[in-house]
Amino acid sequence: MFHAQILTLFPEFFDTPLSCSIPKRAIAAGIVDVDCIQLRDFATDKHSKVDDAPYGGGPGMLMKPGPVVAAIREARKRQPDTHVVMLTPSGISFTQAKALEYTEKSGITLLCGRYEGFDERICDYVDEEISLGDYVLSGGEPAALCVLDSVIRLLPDVLGSPESAVLDSFTEEGILDWPHYTRPEEFEGKHVPDVLLSGNHAKIEKWRHEQAILRSRKADLDGVKHDG
Ligand code: SAM
Repeated sequence: MFHAQILTLFPEFFDTPLSCSIPKRAIAAGIVDVDCIQLRDFATDKHSKVDDAPYGGGPGMLMKPGPVVAAIREARKRQPDTHVVMLTPSGISFTQAKALEYTEKSGITLLCGRYEGFDERICDYVDEEISLGDYVLSGGEPAALCVLDSVIRLLPDVLGSPESAVLDSFTEEGILDWPHYTRPEEFEGKHVPDVLLSGNHAKIEKWRHEQAILRSRKADLDGVKHDG
């Protein structure tokens, strides 16, 4: 079983996404378990304060090191082999290759920030800093959810067909998925490419591969980042 832990001020954020579709089935099948750890439970003052003003002045508040580090220690106590990931815009970009790498581990602990982010010293207590992309979210929870969802679908026996994950974008040779079509054959004057109706599997495979390469080149030219 893959053990996911989430260190967060908002455990309720995860209730709906984890009770739908693929994550729901993976949890029900005992392939993954997800434990939310409330960061506020590790505050030591009577107001359960987890944030404080930045030294040197400036707007906003920061996550205090005391409660966050105590929560990380608790996560490591519960899952000694866990890999602790801090979600932060200054981390390295999350990729499909990274998701695959996480599936090789016994579990991950995702640390979600809020406010203006973390006291810098907290970085010394995590194994890795990950960014979802070059934009700023209000909190680490949406980023943690994306990481967790992409890892869960790659775990063995989660997807109905193991082929699905292998054929996804960024996996085979690091290129994008090819274009897909379903019924009807014609929609508002737009037709399904003839080759897909030909029944010639060799031709179809060749066409798909070419389209995937073309798309990936175009995405590169348009500035979309991907592996490979
Ligand atoms: N002041 C920070 C900055 O400009 O880098 C932004 C803090 S943000 C409002 C609060 C929290 O959201 C961060 O501590 C982090 O956990 C999360 N977050 C925001 N954007 C993120 C991103 N692109 N990737 C991962 N986490 C992000």
